Amino acid sequence: MASEFAARLPADRAESGLADLKPALNEGQARAEASRCLYCFDAPCIGACPTGIDIPEFIRKIASGNYRGSARTILSANILGLSCAAVCPVEVLCAGDCVFNDKGEPPIQIGLLQRFSTEWAYDRGLRFFEKGAPTGHRVALIGAGPASLAAAHELTVLGHECVLFEGRALPGGLNTTGVAPYKMRAEMSIREVEYIKEIGFEIRTGVEVVPDGTAGTLGAASTIAFSELEREFDAIFIGVGLGPDSRQGLPGEDLAGVWGACALIERIKNSGRDEVGYDAARVKNAVVIGGGNTAIDVVRELRKLDVENVTMVYRRGEHEMPGYDHEVAYARREGVQFHLRANPTAYVPDAEDASRVGAVRLVRMELGEPDESGRRRPKPVDGSEHELPAQLVAIATGQEKLETLLGSIAGLELHWGRVKVDAASGRTGNPRYWSGGDCANGGKEVVNAAAEGKLAARSIDGAMRDGSVRRSGA
Ligand SMILES: Cc1cc2nc3c(=O)[nH]c(=O)nc-3n(C[C@H](O)[C@H](O)[C@H](O)COP(=O)(O)OP(=O)(O)OC[C@H]3O[C@@H](n4cnc5c(N)ncnc54)[C@H](O)[C@@H]3O)c2cc1C
Ligand code: SF4
Repeated sequence: MASEFAARLPADRAESGLADLKPALNEGQARAEASRCLYCFDAPCIGACPTGIDIPEFIRKIASGNYRGSARTILSANILGLSCAAVCPVEVLCAGDCVFNDKGEPPIQIGLLQRFSTEWAYDRGLRFFEKGAPTGHRVALIGAGPASLAAAHELTVLGHECVLFEGRALPGGLNTTGVAPYKMRAEMSIREVEYIKEIGFEIRTGVEVVPDGTAGTLGAASTIAFSELEREFDAIFIGVGLGPDSRQGLPGEDLAGVWGACALIERIKNSGRDEVGYDAARVKNAVVIGGGNTAIDVVRELRKLDVENVTMVYRRGEHEMPGYDHEVAYARREGVQFHLRANPTAYVPDAEDASRVGAVRLVRMELGEPDESGRRRPKPVDGSEHELPAQLVAIATGQEKLETLLGSIAGLELHWGRVKVDAASGRTGNPRYWSGGDCANGGKEVVNAAAEGKLAARSIDGAMRDGSVRRSGA
């Protein structure tokens, strides 16, 4: 029988057709790869993992056939070990620091080994943690993404009652709505959420947390105000991630076919094919604006969904792209075209249907004076305007910060739109609120959100036990 949340995912999603980029290892392959590991004494791979998983230890257990023990080692450090195995950019984290790189040999495939162990345990329904003896304390967690899930799991083990409020219909945050399907499809994220939740906390989906006296912005079925959470719960964890796609304010941005990148990816991942947001038969040319990892994800997804010409437009040169080099190289190999040192000035209506986009108007960019960071600022070249045909456009120039929502909480300070937290505890300027994940770190990886959620949970536990926080309705 389909689980509560999995039943809400349409079976015919566009993402379902995208093959796993790194297929799972079978038992023989996993043991062979595990036996290559040197089990380094001062393993640099551990230091590169934000959750500090004892990597040589879990790999040694695979090599000796102790898969249960291996999964326990991983999940004890990081309860999101399954999704992290699939989505972590291991090339720049653990595997990037593996000593084999110095020997000019391929690093240990740590992500695939982690996936082997965690899936082995999931397939057998193995559980390693129990709900702690009830303390009577209650914690509200805003958002049901990786940060809140990690925090709620830790708090539940420590005996506290947790309720997650999620504005969307599906939990899992960007693991469910944003991560490229060839790394992880939505059902794997939902499988992980169900597994983590089984420890005994509640997720209320379709409930958006809002400043007092305001309406929601996520289109959720219902809302709940901060003051109500403060009455009902002793402590509150904010794990809301980042906001909607940033807008550029250019002419034609509202034409049909012009999408914010995250909104388009969410459709590809969570909607049925008929609602994917573009008419696949009509789209021959897609243009993606931006040079970061989200832009690279979209161009690769569109190529894999058989869009013929996919062009990435970035205002600087390839070496200055913020996206990971290995991802840029994959995109190039998959046939993505790069239109560098160019910037959009307008989205042009289609000649036959003025309600739809037909082209992107661009201007060439040259490097001008250095900015505060020392990087030379790109500036438009006069008379260089030109057009690229595009029946589909995705704008991947960043996500907004949730300043209106977060700025409404008394005492909570924001820095460039991020929640300012004490790095050692995740506590904010308001002593009853903690935060972690993208809304506090500005947008990193799933593994950072998992680490920060767990760190905050331990601090919340301490504060509730010493009586320094208490619900206002108590
Ligand atoms: C397109 C894209 C691809 C990515 N790919 C990768 C990848 O391959 N590997 C990787 O490690 N990281 C990746 N990341 C980054 C990673 O997804 C994030 O760092 C991580 O999900 C952050 O977790 P979080 O819990 O802080 O926030 P989120 O995952 O954003 O979850 C926040 C949740 O809070 C909910 N919410 C927001 N406001 C409210 C409210 N007022 N009330 C109730 N609920 C609310 C949201 O609906 C959401 O479900 C990617 C990010 C993007 C945008
Ligand atoms: S650095 Fe590489 S070889 Fe050494 S313990 Fe880590 S994975 Fe094994």
